[in-house]
Amino acid sequence: MTAVVVKHDASLLRGAMNTMKTAQPLSRSRFWAGSGLHVTMLVLTVVQAAAMLLVFRGRVAPLLADWALSLVAVYLCWRAGKGWRLAFWTSSALSIALTVESLAALPALGAVRHMGFYLFLLYHVLLIACLWRLPLHQRPRISAAFCGLLTLFTVMLFFFVWREGQANPQVWQERQANLQAVTYGILYLAALWTLSPAMETALAGRVPMGRFFVILAVVIGWLAAVLKSVMALGLDMAMQDLRPIQAMWLAGDLLFGIGIYCEARKIDVQLWPFMAVGALDMAWIGGLMSLRSAPGHIYQVWLLLGGVVVFICALGVARGYEEGLHLARRRLEGWVAVIDDLSRAADENVDTHRSLEQAFIHLMGFFPGLLGLEIVFRGGSLLLGKAAGHREVLRAEDGRQVALYGLEDNLMANEGMMRAVRPWLTNRLWDLAVKLELRDQVYLDPLSGLLNRRAYEVRLPEVLRLAQAQQRPVAVLMVDMDHFKRVNDTCGHAVGDQVIQAIAKTMRAFFRSGDLVIRWGGEEFLALMLGVDRAQAMERAEQLRKAISALAVPAVTWPLSVSIGVAGGTVPQGQAQLKRWLEEADQALYAAKRAGRNRIRA
Ligand code: GH3
Ligand code: MG
Ligand code: MG
Repeated sequence: MTAVVVKHDASLLRGAMNTMKTAQPLSRSRFWAGSGLHVTMLVLTVVQAAAMLLVFRGRVAPLLADWALSLVAVYLCWRAGKGWRLAFWTSSALSIALTVESLAALPALGAVRHMGFYLFLLYHVLLIACLWRLPLHQRPRISAAFCGLLTLFTVMLFFFVWREGQANPQVWQERQANLQAVTYGILYLAALWTLSPAMETALAGRVPMGRFFVILAVVIGWLAAVLKSVMALGLDMAMQDLRPIQAMWLAGDLLFGIGIYCEARKIDVQLWPFMAVGALDMAWIGGLMSLRSAPGHIYQVWLLLGGVVVFICALGVARGYEEGLHLARRRLEGWVAVIDDLSRAADENVDTHRSLEQAFIHLMGFFPGLLGLEIVFRGGSLLLGKAAGHREVLRAEDGRQVALYGLEDNLMANEGMMRAVRPWLTNRLWDLAVKLELRDQVYLDPLSGLLNRRAYEVRLPEVLRLAQAQQRPVAVLMVDMDHFKRVNDTCGHAVGDQVIQAIAKTMRAFFRSGDLVIRWGGEEFLALMLGVDRAQAMERAEQLRKAISALAVPAVTWPLSVSIGVAGGTVPQGQAQLKRWLEEADQALYAAKRAGRNRIRA
């Protein structure tokens, strides 16, 4: 049961890991390669700004800059892969439309202008289809109201255009331009409607960074389209300067490119830095518009400054986030390792202690203040690391306890991530305490506290694996109490039990922790000693015999003694050989008994 729950946790977190892994790796070189894009955009911003200033009346240069920008978007979409195939075609349509528009600016090719319009239409439709495919799960409410307002505004504008056209045939000469601009406005609006669920998330305080930029881009695009139609109508006679609109479209494209980039890299952050970037952008555009009648150099400085500021902000935000993501991923990886170790520790066939040790090492890896981890259960305890520093009890009940030792007081409360995972960690460690306890109940002999024969079956393969892996010999000792029946018969069974406990205590102290010491039968014990050859085994057996002879159990007036049979002492070839050694040790024990007891035979 426990193991299943732990594994479920692991798979959940692993899922989260995979999601993170689908984002681009976070190496510095990759990051700067990505930043190359920002640089490209900055250069393009400057190029277009220069083009607008230098060749204001000729439309070729700004369009070429737009075109190059959309190429960057195409490249990004191509790199982003599957989900963004549609975005690829969208950007391609934009590229082609811009190319046609550029060509149309050449006097000889003015006729292709119509085609440019239709291609722009196609671009907008593809853009909406592309946004439609974004996974947006929120139900829009406030953003729908916002879009509704914009729609109302656009419809009113459309009505205005139509009425002005009716009343004022001279202005209506620019009819096609008006209609185009209004159509763009409507299409941008449709895109905004499509994005409204994402706007809802934004209003809730969190939104994928890419989507936020795309929303900003679409809003700016819409604003530019509306302004252009207002201008084309001649409703605002003061606004004869196309530059603010060019700049807005450029800013929109820039943000759209950044948006695609972030979406492709699955960059997701808190909203506020993007609000800041967006606000800066808006301020920049607002400044452009209000400065349109200012002397040229102020306008230039403002334009370039705006571009640089937006670029730096975007870069800083992206970079800060990259670092945060990197750290988060390292921690997540650490946690996945801890979960893996803990689920393995709960596994029946695995050395719990070793898996717990691994979990502890992984924990220490990303949690430097940790010194030790302690599990106390009924009948035993387990300590990993050091019982030093401050002790923080995670949970204590019914003779069980799980606790951490740390450099600081109140270790877990001071660390955000530890605080978050505290209940989880506590529960897992608690499960392990219960498991260790249950395992003791299953594998420990209650009278002597030594392992029972069930434990022998389970642990034997591990001893064999270790011996073979490290090429260490294994010696087998079979120990049997001499004339034990006499203790029972003269002093009673209770005293007999005391004698068994006294011998078991001596044996627990005598053997090393890696050795297997088993209560084999009534007053018969088996010991498997790792790293001990035949000669050493004989020597150890003699020491044990002496230690037991020295035992004094009250009620028993005669000296206690044991006979010991020894076998093995080489690297075991397999389980069959180990079992044979057991029989040999048993026969040696009988030989010792026949030879007069209180002695050792091999
Ligand atoms: P030997 O020297 O030949 O070994 O003589 P022995 O009397 O020790 O003979 P054996 O090993 O056959 O005796 C085992 C006795 O141990 C039989 C049983 O009554 C007693 N015994 C087995 N388990 C327990 C136990 O848990 N408590 C007590 N008090 N006696 C036990
Ligand atoms: Mg005996
Ligand atoms: Mg016996």
